[in-house]
Amino acid sequence: MNTLAERIDRVRSKIAAAAARGRGQAVQLLAVTKTVPPEVIAQAMSCGLTLFGENRAQEALPKIKRFPQAEWHFIGQLQTNKVKNVVGRFALIHSLDRWKLATALQARAEITGQPVRVLVQVNVGREPQKGGVLPEDVPAFLREVAQLSHLRVEGLMAIPPAVSDPEDSRPYFRALYELFRSIDMPGVKMKTLSMGMSADYEVAVEEGANLVRVGSLLFGERS
Ligand SMILES: *Cc1c(COP(=O)(O)O)cnc(C)c1O
Repeated sequence: MNTLAERIDRVRSKIAAAAARGRGQAVQLLAVTKTVPPEVIAQAMSCGLTLFGENRAQEALPKIKRFPQAEWHFIGQLQTNKVKNVVGRFALIHSLDRWKLATALQARAEITGQPVRVLVQVNVGREPQKGGVLPEDVPAFLREVAQLSHLRVEGLMAIPPAVSDPEDSRPYFRALYELFRSIDMPGVKMKTLSMGMSADYEVAVEEGANLVRVGSLLFGERS
């Protein structure tokens, strides 16, 4: 079993190689720390990781308190009644997927006075059980969200359908990149394309991801 430092190095060099094969873009590594204890997060930080992702506010808040110097991203499905636990605590929310959530975030941000940075989650595989805006609805959705004074849209996020061969995810990543590139509207920045996880981050980077969300490959399988 190799060390955390070795696993981080390995993922970093694979990302660099994939970007070189792809579009030569700079890629951020978001370490997904759900179920990962604080001691291990401390180790990851000493290896130079600074970006961390969590999908449940309740689990994340004590970690954020303990490591306020890190940058924390919210990557899970967000219920509107949990919005107050997320706004002001996470630097970026990857999972804006419906209008009701947009207005809840806006209402909370008006109270705190701080704008909320978000990515719009796209249901690229058109899976009924998954959150996300359908690809063809993304431009109209963005136009609406751009009207909300306290929301800052900075890009797109997606979790494509589970496949056994990462190559099968390539068309989804490619479609997402094309959508990402096609959007040009006032009040919306297309800066971050969050796609790719442990099983498929290399393919995602080859297709243009500039942020990958990697958990189990760094920290081991979650039980
Ligand atoms: C858990 C999770 C990840 C990381 O998954 P791994 O397969 O462990 O790398 C990435 N994105 C989201 C939204 C997650 O919930």
